[in-house]
Amino acid sequence: MPSAIPLKQFDSVGGFWGAYQTELATKGLMHQWQQIVGTGRLQHFLDVIDGKSGTHTGYRFNDSDLYKWLEAAAYSQVLNPNPEVKAAMELAINAIIGAQAEDGYLFTLIQLNKPEWKWRNLVHMHEMYCLGHLIEACIALNQMGDSRLMPVATKSVDCITATFGPGKRVGSCGHPEIELALYRLWQETGQKRYAELADWMIDCRGQRPSPFETEFENPTDNCIVSLDRCCEWKDGKYYGEYLQDDKPIRDQDTIVGHSVRAAYLYAAAQLSAGRRKDKPLQDALDRIWTNLTEARMYVTGGIGSTGDGEGFTADYDLPNLNAYAETCAGIALAMWARRSFEVNPSTDPLDVLERALFNGILSGVSRDTTRYFYDNPLESRANTERQPWFGCACCPPNIARLLASITDYAVQADDKTLYLAFPIECSFTLTNGLKVKIKSQYPNRGKAEITITAKQPTRFRLALRIPDWAEEVTTTLPGAQPAEYEEGFAVFDEVWEGDRTLTLEFEMEPRLISAHPKVLDNLGRVAVQYGPTIYCAESSSEANAPQRATLELNEDIQLGAQKSPGGAPTLQVNAIRQNDADGPLYEYEQEANYSQETLTLIPYREWNASGKSYMQVWLRA
Ligand SMILES: [Zn+2]
Repeated sequence: MPSAIPLKQFDSVGGFWGAYQTELATKGLMHQWQQIVGTGRLQHFLDVIDGKSGTHTGYRFNDSDLYKWLEAAAYSQVLNPNPEVKAAMELAINAIIGAQAEDGYLFTLIQLNKPEWKWRNLVHMHEMYCLGHLIEACIALNQMGDSRLMPVATKSVDCITATFGPGKRVGSCGHPEIELALYRLWQETGQKRYAELADWMIDCRGQRPSPFETEFENPTDNCIVSLDRCCEWKDGKYYGEYLQDDKPIRDQDTIVGHSVRAAYLYAAAQLSAGRRKDKPLQDALDRIWTNLTEARMYVTGGIGSTGDGEGFTADYDLPNLNAYAETCAGIALAMWARRSFEVNPSTDPLDVLERALFNGILSGVSRDTTRYFYDNPLESRANTERQPWFGCACCPPNIARLLASITDYAVQADDKTLYLAFPIECSFTLTNGLKVKIKSQYPNRGKAEITITAKQPTRFRLALRIPDWAEEVTTTLPGAQPAEYEEGFAVFDEVWEGDRTLTLEFEMEPRLISAHPKVLDNLGRVAVQYGPTIYCAESSSEANAPQRATLELNEDIQLGAQKSPGGAPTLQVNAIRQNDADGPLYEYEQEANYSQETLTLIPYREWNASGKSYMQVWLRA
């Protein structure tokens, strides 16, 4: 089974992703740290250490922001060390070690404000969700050579298993995440009991009686959130769909409920299905994946179309202006796609991974990594802009940990094969001693060079993903056997010796995308894609708003002379614009005033660089 190449084996990450990582290391991480400190999130841990009580403020799951930040910082320090970040990490590490209770429990809201609520309101409280993020941070540090938090991770699981597990109390977290963390802890320590606990949680989900539903039997005693604010309570009944607890996963067919919960849960379930070779579970995940990717995913890879319950609605209900498409949901989808690939190596999930990464996820962060979108609409009427932080700040540190660990998503290996999901500029050494250097301007250009250096003859397979959007792909490796095609990959099975360079070229042309006619919002509209990048039109003024334009597609879309700020080609397309007019709101038989223009398109991920603007992905044609 392929897995990520440990970051410590990398010498460099450059190009497109390297620029994000540098910005994160020099600006984004300290910006986020200041928010974490300034909003009292660190102070909660210090207050626990000082034995204070009643001082927790803000959302109950705020501890997770510190953990996700620490995880991101741990990855970032490997290739982009920053002493300021290092100093902040020390504060975080000491705060975590100090605040963990004797029995391994750590959740500052309960420790400070409501000790009597421990493990009482699983559906809302997020205790295990936070512990999951804590465990992931501990693992990240351990992988970087700092094992100080591993006892914290294992003690926190001991705390869970003291109460929950087979033969004990049935229960997991209303917000999945602990399951993914437990599989990572199994992979990190080799201890099967962690994976088995996650398997058990996955198998319990959706069973009756539901431990979550039971909490609603006496909601005034058991629920910290009032019923009128509960997404898990609808029409006087428990609404298990919100947290994927309406039926066992093996019986589920469609993706429902809260999008981040769903994708975290299914990412973990994917690892569970792989580990246990569980065909009914795998079949269910395949059905849910098909429903998601064929009827409920935006062209940007955004998922969860409504802010009402932060989740899914119905097939083909993909509004643009009010699209929710939370940044975390895109990240969760990338995680699910990655795990799906690891368990069943094929390019299908990687096509979805790439769509989400280069579009709906990266739109969630400014290029300097200090401003964020929580939701990622596909149309704007100058009503939204990226923010420095949020009260519910799940997205900023989540995108930080994704950016800092992007190599986990781009290159993977097992003992026979190196898989390249997309060409990322980087260099690293495999455990078999092969050195790999990738030169790439992807996604802005389709050409990449992969140089493999072997000190002694080494047989190894190099598997290059052929993207779903690529019509022409050329691979050149002098002296090689022709590539074989396997599950969407071009595979070179070679004995490597000395330095050999493979040239890979995806022909990139602007391509038009139409949506299924059941997506009523996109009727008569097209989206434009170049390489893996979805484009949009944007204007700061209402008079030039793309909403007023209709594309004229009788001529090809041209590459513009200007580059976008992120180095991507701009695209140019002829359009007719309906101009402003004086006159009343409604008028009989007035001829509209049109003009010809050339509309410039930029990558969707780069929109909003100068604040509020008019923007559209799906353009009238
Ligand atoms: Zn979020």
